[in-house]
Amino acid sequence: MILTDLNPSGGIGSNSLLVELGPFRFLIDAGLHPKIVGRAAVPDFSRIGDAPLDFVLLTHCHLDHLGALPVVLRNHPEALVLMSPPSVILAERMLHNSCNVMLRQREEENLPEYPLYTHSEVDRQARRFLPVHFGQTRTLHKGGESIAITLHLAGHVPGAAGVLIEHRHRKVFFTGDVLFEPQLIVPGADFPTGPFDTVVLETTRGATGRATGNTRTSESARLIETIRHVIEGGGSVLLPVFALGRMQEMFTLLHQARNEGRLPAFPIYGAGLGLDLAGYLDRLSRRHHQIRFKHRILKELRLRPLPRKLVPGRPPREPGLYVLSSGMMVENTPSYGLAACLAGHHHQAICFVGYCDPDTPGGKLLATRHGEVFVFDGLAYQTPVQARIERFELTGHADRDELVAFARGASPRAVVLTHGDPPARAWFAQTLAADGTIPTIIDPRPLTPVEV
Ligand SMILES: [Zn+2]
Ligand SMILES: [Zn+2]
Repeated sequence: MILTDLNPSGGIGSNSLLVELGPFRFLIDAGLHPKIVGRAAVPDFSRIGDAPLDFVLLTHCHLDHLGALPVVLRNHPEALVLMSPPSVILAERMLHNSCNVMLRQREEENLPEYPLYTHSEVDRQARRFLPVHFGQTRTLHKGGESIAITLHLAGHVPGAAGVLIEHRHRKVFFTGDVLFEPQLIVPGADFPTGPFDTVVLETTRGATGRATGNTRTSESARLIETIRHVIEGGGSVLLPVFALGRMQEMFTLLHQARNEGRLPAFPIYGAGLGLDLAGYLDRLSRRHHQIRFKHRILKELRLRPLPRKLVPGRPPREPGLYVLSSGMMVENTPSYGLAACLAGHHHQAICFVGYCDPDTPGGKLLATRHGEVFVFDGLAYQTPVQARIERFELTGHADRDELVAFARGASPRAVVLTHGDPPARAWFAQTLAADGTIPTIIDPRPLTPVEV
């Protein structure tokens, strides 16, 4: 098997892995880099060359895995895209949203190459999305050989899958983005235990150990308590969230806390794509038992739209809770705008509940000490940070120790590291090598084929 990481910049970036296995050539994911704009955000698909691409396997619908799919499909009209049934529905919606965002950026940021694809292109390509049910094996044939593909629930977000590939006598398992613990809206990952010849492992949280005693339940309770405390003290709270998964998970958590009497009545605001996706997840939950989200909870929470005029430096007059994307507080998003209203004031709070890349505004704010100046470049505004800035361990990614246990349990001959910043990958490389039971650990260099 030959693997080539097509993400030119390393780190998490634009996820796309070219896999060559016997006569088969396929991609795992085709994402857009979340921190780069323009054509540079696309994986280097030129490495696929002219030979046909048999298929693309999509693990889930976050844009760092999905956002560049139309670009590769345009150049490879022969390729089908295999994904879980919920992802078939979500992928199309996410890609149309991505078109809208690029059309806006074309004007606002003067990016003439945008949009990288059009709505009608997405409509046409969506006919090539092929649902593969969780747990059911799909076999493809080529040149007298066959390859068997089975998707397994990966937790993380609705529709997310880990992928088992079987070819000749070889078994390769790709975790994709994975969370083993259950969330309110999706159960935890349900992965086979192996043995596998190769495990391709996500490493997002390799640089973060979990504080002892912190569980998802205790962190959820601490979040609810923090929100209550800040609002009762006259402040507002911002939760920056990813539109897919995290936003609906937070609404469900808030709804539960209200019903149990742990949260008093106060205004809750939400905005953007995540509200639309809430409708999709409600419909999906009727057909797929692994998705548990009811749209009516937004009504029961009396969710309000974001106030029109937000002025940096001026907190909202009425205390409230703002559940807004983006999760990493990327510029030009509702969470970025509201953070600029809150950051400079005592009694306000910004609570991070998901993974934040250190190079994004969210990651930088988390690294800023109380009283230190934080610059909102996109708004030409800066302020000493006076608000309470907190992180809660409620991410959609597995703990590093759980991933190590999973990889070891599968007794692989090789582990390939993906989806992590250099320090995170380094931790995994060192830890997995420590007991000598896994002969080969590979941290592939970008655009460099490795034989596994
Ligand atoms: Zn993801
Ligand atoms: Zn990801």
